[in-house]
Amino acid sequence: MHPLARLDHQYLWHPFTQMRDWLRREPLVLQSGRGALLKDVYGHEYLDANSSIWTNLHGHNHPKINQAIFAQLKRIAHSSALGFANEPASLLAEKLVRSANPPWLHRGSQRPGSKPDRLAKVFFSDDGSTAMEVALKLAYESARRAGNRTPRFLSLDSAYHGDTVGAVSLGHIDLFHKAFKGLLFKTDKAFTPYCYRCPYNRSKPQRADARDYRECQWECLNKLESRFATQKKKGNPYAAFVFEPLMQGAAGMIAQPQGWLTKATAIARAYGSRLVADEVMTGFGRTGSFGTEAAPGLFACHRENVQPDFLALAKGLTGGYLPMAATLTTQAVFDAFLGDYAEFKTFFHGHSFTGNQLGAVAGLSSMALLNESKTIRARARLELQLQHELQQLWAYPNVGDIRQVGLVAGIELVKDWRTRKTFDLRAQAGIKVCDAMAKMGVLTRPIGNVIALLPPYCTTSAQLSAMVQALGKAVAEVFRTPVSNRWTSS
Ligand code: PMP
Repeated sequence: MHPLARLDHQYLWHPFTQMRDWLRREPLVLQSGRGALLKDVYGHEYLDANSSIWTNLHGHNHPKINQAIFAQLKRIAHSSALGFANEPASLLAEKLVRSANPPWLHRGSQRPGSKPDRLAKVFFSDDGSTAMEVALKLAYESARRAGNRTPRFLSLDSAYHGDTVGAVSLGHIDLFHKAFKGLLFKTDKAFTPYCYRCPYNRSKPQRADARDYRECQWECLNKLESRFATQKKKGNPYAAFVFEPLMQGAAGMIAQPQGWLTKATAIARAYGSRLVADEVMTGFGRTGSFGTEAAPGLFACHRENVQPDFLALAKGLTGGYLPMAATLTTQAVFDAFLGDYAEFKTFFHGHSFTGNQLGAVAGLSSMALLNESKTIRARARLELQLQHELQQLWAYPNVGDIRQVGLVAGIELVKDWRTRKTFDLRAQAGIKVCDAMAKMGVLTRPIGNVIALLPPYCTTSAQLSAMVQALGKAVAEVFRTPVSNRWTSS
C-alpha cells in the first residue's frame, strides 16, 4: 500500500462512508488534476465524471482561476467580514446579484401582477449546508417579525439540503436523517414529482426519460396544493417552501417534468409562502444553456421564470476551488433586520471565513469564465453531446431511466427495465458499477442505485464519450445481462 494511503487509513474518517469497507482496500490517493483529468500517486489518470462531487465547473488547474488566486495571495488570503469589508467579496456580491436578476427574467411572466422582488443582498458562508442554514434562519426570523409566531416549512420528499442540524431538518431522506431525529425540528414533506416511480403515472416503462412518456393529470401538484391548503386551514400557512429547482440531486437525480417548478411555486406564492431555492447543485450553468449571450441563464429557477426569495449557492461558486457559499435574498428580508442597535434586530449569525478573499477571487474568475461567449457555446455543445451519448445506455436492460437536465444526468439502475424493479440498497448495485468504472479510469459516485454524471464544462468530446461508454461497459460487466438493440417493450 502507498504510504499516503496508509496514512489515510490510520487517521482519516471519510464523509458518508462505511469506514469498515474503506479500510479493506487501498484508497485512490489523488495528487493532481488538469481539466477533466485527475491523477493519482501512481500516475494513473482518471476522468472526473462527477466534477469532484458536483463542484468543479471549468476543470482542475485552470490557468485563469489559478492566476486569480496567486495574485490575491500576494495581497492577503483572508480578513474577517466581522467588522471589515474587502474588495473581492464586494465585487463578487455585485456579480452574483447581477446574474441572479437577468434582464430577461419575468418578461411575459406567467403571473402578471405578482412580480417577485429582486434578489438584492448576499450573505456569504462556507458550504452548501451553511448557505441553507442561513436561508432557513432568515426565512424563519423574517416571518416571525412579520407576525407569524411559529413559522413552518414545507420541503420536498427525499430532499437533501445539507448536514448541519437545520439543513437536516429540512431534509427527507430517511436513510441519512432518521438517526438524528431527536435533534431536529419538524418540517413537513411535500409530494415530489418523480415520474419514473410516480404512483400516478399510468404508463408502462419505455426506453425513454419517464418525464417524456408519463400519463398523469399532474396529481403531484394537486397533492402539493392540498398540503398548502391544509396548513392554511390550521391558521398557520407555510412560511417558506424549500426546494431544489429542476432536479433533486442527492435524492437520486430526480428531475422535475417541465412546467412543474412554475406551477408549484405559483401555488406556494398563492398561499403566501416564501420560496427558498437550493441551487447548491443546480447553480452556475449546471442545468443547461438558456438566456442570452450577454446575460446567460446561470440558475435553474430562471429556466422556468421563477425568482425565489432566497437563493442558496455553494459548490460551483468558486469553480469548485474553495469552500465558499452564498445566500441571496431580497431587500424586504434585509429590511426586516434593520433597526436601532438597542432593538437587537441584527442577524446574529456568521462564520470566521465569511467573505474569504481567496474564495471570492476564485468566484469572480469563475463567473467571468461562465459569462464568456466561448464557454457558453462550449457548454451548449457538451449538453447536446451528452444527450446524444446517453442514448446508447438504453441498450442495457439494467438501465431503467435516464434523466438529463443540462449537464447533469442520473442513470437509474434496475433489475429489469420492463418491471422497474429496484435493487435492494444492500446489494450495492450503484457502488459496484462505479467501482467497475473506476477500473476503466472514470470516477463518479453513485446515489443508491443511480449513477450521476456531471462532467466539468471543459470536458472534451472524446472524454465525454469515454465517460458514458465506461458506464455502459461497467453495467454490462456487473450485471452480465445481454445488451439489446431493441429498446421497445413490444
Ligand atoms: N444542498 C444540496 C442540493 C446539495 O446537493 C448539497 C451537497 N451535496 C448541499 C446542500 C450541502 O452542501 P455541502 O456539502 O457543501 O454542505
